[in-house]
Amino acid sequence: MPPAKALSLDDPRLRQALTSRSVVCLTGAGISAESGIPTFRGPDGLWKRFRPEELANFDAFLANPELVWEWYRYRRDKIGSAQPNAGHRALAAWQDRGPGEFHLITQNVDGLHQRAGSRDVIELHGNIWNDRCLECGRMQESDSSEVAGVPQCECGGKMRPDVVWFGEFLPEAKLEKSFDLAAACEVFLLVGTSAVVQPAAGLPVLAKRNGACLIEVNPEPTPLSDRADFNFFAPAGEVLPRLLEAGS
Ligand code: NAD
Ligand code: ZN
Repeated sequence: MPPAKALSLDDPRLRQALTSRSVVCLTGAGISAESGIPTFRGPDGLWKRFRPEELANFDAFLANPELVWEWYRYRRDKIGSAQPNAGHRALAAWQDRGPGEFHLITQNVDGLHQRAGSRDVIELHGNIWNDRCLECGRMQESDSSEVAGVPQCECGGKMRPDVVWFGEFLPEAKLEKSFDLAAACEVFLLVGTSAVVQPAAGLPVLAKRNGACLIEVNPEPTPLSDRADFNFFAPAGEVLPRLLEAGS
C-alpha cells in the first residue's frame, strides 16, 4: 500500500475539474466496503471465504442452483442490513448540486447508490434484488420471505438472480450508453474498482483518451493508477466528501 499522505486539494486543475459541468463516475465494490459489504478481491474479500468463480457462473447454477441461491441469499442478507456510507452520499449530493451533468455508472449490484439518493444509476452488472426466469425471461423483485430452495417462475422455470455472471455479456444498451458518456465527459471519477474487469475497465481509458481528467479514488493502486491525473489513495468515504466540498 502506498504511504498515506494528506489529501491535497490545492491544485488549480483539480479545483477546475471538481466544478466541471460534465462528470462521469464509475464505481466498484470498494465504495460499498465501508458499508460492510465485502469486495471480491480485497483482503477480506468474498473470494477468500467462498469461491465466487465457482458460484457466479451459469454452469455452477445449472449444476447446483440450491448452492448458488444460498450464496445469493447470504449476500442479500448482508446488503439488506447495510446502509449507504459517506461515499455514496457524496456522489448523490454531487449529482444534486450540479452544475451540469453528473452520470453514475456502477458495477455494484447492491442498490446502495439509489438508497443514498442517486438518480438514473446505470447498473452494468444488474441488481441483486431482482430475479429472472431461465425459461421465459420474466423478471420479478425477489421474495424476501423465501429462505431456502430455488425460486420458481409462474411458468415452472427456475429463477436466477438478475446479475451478470462470469462469462456473460453486459446489457448492451447500458454498455453503449456508458461508453458514449465516457467518451464525451470532461471529468471521469474512478472509485473503488480494481479496474481489471472488462469491459467496464475500458470506460476510464476511453475517457482519458478523449481528453477527460481522470481522478482515481482507491486505497490501493490499480492498473490504471499511472494514467490518472489525480490519485487519492484513501477510502472513498473519506475522499469523496472532501472532493465534493472542494468543488462547492
Ligand atoms: P473488486 O472487488 O475487484 O475491487 C474492489 C476495489 O475496491 C479494490 O481495488 C480495492 O482496493 C478497492 N477498495 C477497497 N476498499 C475501498 C474503499 N473504502 N474505498 C475505495 N476503494 C476501496 O471490485 P470491482 O472492481 O467492482 O469488480 C468486482 C465485481 O464484483 C463487480 O463486477 C461487482 O459486480 C461484483 N461485486 C459487487 C459487490 C457489491 O455490489 N457491493 C460486492 C462484491 C462484488
Ligand atoms: Zn418463466
